[in-house]
Formats: sequence, C-alpha cells, structure tokens
Amino acid sequence: MSKQFDVIVIGGGPGGYIAAIRAAQLGFNVACIDEWKNDKGGPAPGGTCTNVGCIPSKALLQSSEHYAHAAHSFADHGIGLKDLSIDVKKMVGRKDAVVKQNNDGILYLLKKNKVAFFHGRGSFGKAVDGGYEIVVTGAEVQTLAARHVIVATGSNARQLPGAPFDEERILSNDGALRLGEVPRTLGVVGSGVIGLEMGSVWRRLGAEVTILEALPNFLGAADEAVAKEAHKAFVKQGLKFEFGVAITSVKSGKKGVAVAYTSAKGEAASLEVERLIVSIGRSPNTHGLNAEAVGLAIDERGAITVDADCRTNLPNVWAVGDVVRGPMLAHKAEEEGVAVAERIAGQHGHVNFDTVPWVIYTSPEIAWVGQTEAQLKAAGRACKAGQFPFLANGRARAMGDTTGFVKVLADATTDEILGVHIVGPYASELIAEAVVAMEFKASAEDIARICHAHPSLSEATKEAALAVGKRTLNF
Ligand SMILES: Cc1cc2nc3c(=O)[nH]c(=O)nc-3n(C[C@H](O)[C@H](O)[C@H](O)COP(=O)(O)OP(=O)(O)OC[C@H]3O[C@@H](n4cnc5c(N)ncnc54)[C@H](O)[C@@H]3O)c2cc1C
Repeated sequence: MSKQFDVIVIGGGPGGYIAAIRAAQLGFNVACIDEWKNDKGGPAPGGTCTNVGCIPSKALLQSSEHYAHAAHSFADHGIGLKDLSIDVKKMVGRKDAVVKQNNDGILYLLKKNKVAFFHGRGSFGKAVDGGYEIVVTGAEVQTLAARHVIVATGSNARQLPGAPFDEERILSNDGALRLGEVPRTLGVVGSGVIGLEMGSVWRRLGAEVTILEALPNFLGAADEAVAKEAHKAFVKQGLKFEFGVAITSVKSGKKGVAVAYTSAKGEAASLEVERLIVSIGRSPNTHGLNAEAVGLAIDERGAITVDADCRTNLPNVWAVGDVVRGPMLAHKAEEEGVAVAERIAGQHGHVNFDTVPWVIYTSPEIAWVGQTEAQLKAAGRACKAGQFPFLANGRARAMGDTTGFVKVLADATTDEILGVHIVGPYASELIAEAVVAMEFKASAEDIARICHAHPSLSEATKEAALAVGKRTLNF
C-alpha cells in the first residue's frame, strides 16, 4: 500500500525544498525526497547549493578574503600583524559547520511546514489512476503516490573526457572545497563563475594558480567593460590566464597532474600542477530517476523538457532548477519552485527571467542584471550608458576598495533601464537595487532621483544613473 500525498518533490536542493515548503503553505500534503548524505550517512538536504556549491564556496571565499586583507591591506590601516598563519583544516572545518547549520535549518523548516521528508533516492514507479507512484530507496524501500510530482534533481559537474574526477588530484567543485592544505600549484580548467571563485580562494591562500580557458575571451557573458576591469584586477592578484586553449590530455600521477594542450597560437604546451580543478560546466541530473518508466521527455542536453511554466510532457509532472533549461543559479531554482507550487494551487506563479541577477563572488565582485551593451547592440536597440567609478566614491575610498565601477544602460528614447553591470566592492548586494528597479520598469532618472544614503557604495549606482543622461549611444 503506497503512502498518499498531494505533491511529491524529488530533490531537496533550493528548487525542491522551497517548492515543497511553498506547496505545504498552500495547504497541500507534501513529501520531499532527497538522497544527499552527510559524512555520517545522515540526511543533508539543500542540494549542491548547500553542500558543495553556493554556501561552502562563500564560506571559504570569506575566510580567504579575511586572510588576504590581513596579509595585504591591514598595514594600510595602520594595523600590524606578526606571525600571520593559515590553519586550512580549521578553515575547512568552519565551512563544514556552516554547511551543517544550513542542512539542519532546512530540516527544521520542512518539519515546521509539515513536509514529510524521505531520505533516499526517488524514482518513478508507474503512472497510476490520477497520479504517479514514486519509489523511495533509502534505508528501506517505500512506495509513495501523488497527483503532482515536481522533479528538482539538480545537476552534476562535467568531467573532461578521459580525466574522471578522483577528488584527490583532479577535482570537481566538491574536492576543491575539501583540500586539506594549500597546494603550491593549482590548475583550473574553465574561467567561469566556479573556476574564478575556487581559483580565487586558493590564490589568496598562496597557491600559484593558472586558469586555462577554451574560449578566446574572458567572461563572455558579462558586459565587455566589466570583464576587462575584472580581468585586470585578477591578473594583479596573481591569477594567470590562458585563453583559446584546447586540452589534449590530462595525466594524473602521485605527485600531480600534467595537462597537455594546444595554445591559442596553435602551439603545443603543457602545465604541471599539484592539483587540477575542472570547472567546465554542469550537466542536468536525471540519473536514477527512472524517467523511462513513465515516458518523461529529456532533451539532447540531458535536461528535462519543460515549457515556460515548468510543465513537462506528462500531466501534473513539473520540473525546476538546474535539471531544466535556463541559468544554473540557486535563486532561479527557488523562483521556479515557488511558481510551480502556486500553479498547482491554481494561482498565477511567475518567474521573470529578464530580471534574474548574476553574481560572481570574487574580489572585486561582479554582478549584473539585464542586457549587456553588446547584446543591446546586436538587437539593434538604441541605448544610453552611464558609468561611475568606485575610485570617486567616498565610502569605497574610506574602505580602501576602489576597484571597478557601476554601469547603467537605459533605452535611448524611454530611459527605461535595460541593464546594470557592477564590478567592485559588494556588487552582490548593490545589484538588488537594480533588480527592483528593473522589475518595476524604472527609468535611469528614477534611480538618479532616489535619495541614497551618504556615504554609501550605492551612491555609485545613483551617479551612474545620473551619467546616463549625458551620453547617447545610437546603434
Ligand atoms: C561551487 C559552486 C558554487 C555555486 N555558487 C552559486 C552561487 O553563489 N549562487 C547561485 O545562485 N548558484 C550557485 N551555484 C549553483 C547552484 O548551486 C545551483 O544552481 C542550485 O543548487 C540548483 O538547485 P537545484 O535545486 O536545481 O539542484 P541541486 O541543488 O543540485 O539539488 C538537487 C538535489 O536533488 C538530489 N537528488 C538528485 N536526484 C535524486 C533522486 N533521484 N532522488 C532523491 N534525491 C535526488 C540531490 O542529491 C540534491 O540534493 C553554485 C554551484 C557550484 C557547484
């Protein structure tokens, strides 16, 4: 006899657990199944984000930034330090404690909202009258059934062909967050968000870091001016980059990893490092879901096929987050989870993909929302640009962190904000103002006329919005 629910959510990452909680708040009887295990084999909900993604990476970025400040900036503030040292095991232990707090917090929230949590793998059994049977394989095998199923099974790190992750020498994000000591030399394949964040952590702690990137340019998704400014800052910090490379072989031995590649000039080159982080993107995860049993459609990329509202090809089966199309971001997964729960309840859940912010938590931080100047140009949309440097911002000068700028792009005729691009201190926090403004279809003048606290970094956004009026770029 199967246990009956209104909604079953498979996957307890930010897409899944948020969907489960919202569905329960809307009055449904909800189950959430997640298979992630902590070191003791117990449940660790929160998915990639909590266990090996957003949260632990930010914990290590924070620790390594403290160290970098102590090593390089404290002296400017008149603070002297003797015998500065790093205890990597303690740093990683603190990160693990932060992760556990989040796991526990999610378990508490599920319980508080009366979501039944099942620890194990969820897979489709069969379609039954009015719904689906889902088999949970954990400490025991149980069968659940529900009218609605939300799949939120996330994604996995992609491997280089012929170089599987061993998490000792060839590391995914998981291994990169668990190193017990600072490697003398570290290679990173891929200069995307994860490569830059992980490379920054270990560079700040003293590793010699070389980043190999297949694309010819740095951060192609970001605004060109932002990418240029960030690249300059990273090179100054000692990160080494090589673009346009084609990796030909990766050989792992006891002492390290040898990477052979062809350079952008077509010359044979090699890199020998103690450890290699491979961050070349992530693949949607439908492994073990038994999608075939019910005929759930999966596209050529391995993602579950969904429409704009996260409906799959099967009635009452939905999918959200990394396992479907769109940016692989935790907040995008959360928004989809909420919207799907609301749609199941007959409400009009909505996700505005045009205002999903992007953030890279390096130093300087990089954040943007909306379109880049190049995208607007390609679309033939006439726009005006305003830019303001943190060098001219009083708060940034007082902080001693003046790298970067805010750039605002607005429609040439209506002045509607079309994109905001920030590289500099606390860009991750500053971008929220731009997201709100764009969500409310604000004009650049709206931001320019809003009172911003002084001295604050947000005054740079106001100044950039003010500057919009002075320069017109007619494409
Ligand atoms: C190093 C790193 C840093 C990142 N930093 C950020 C950041 O700063 N900001 C940001 O927005 N995004 C960040 N991301 C991306 C973010 O982690 C993902 O976009 C987000 O976790 C996706 O959420 P999800 O719920 O779709 O999937 P996931 O978080 O991957 O969760 C899926 C869950 O489903 C479980 N599962 C899978 N299959 C089954 C099954 N059959 N049965 C039961 N359980 C199953 C998995 O074990 C997992 O717990 C980062 C990612 C990485 C790797």
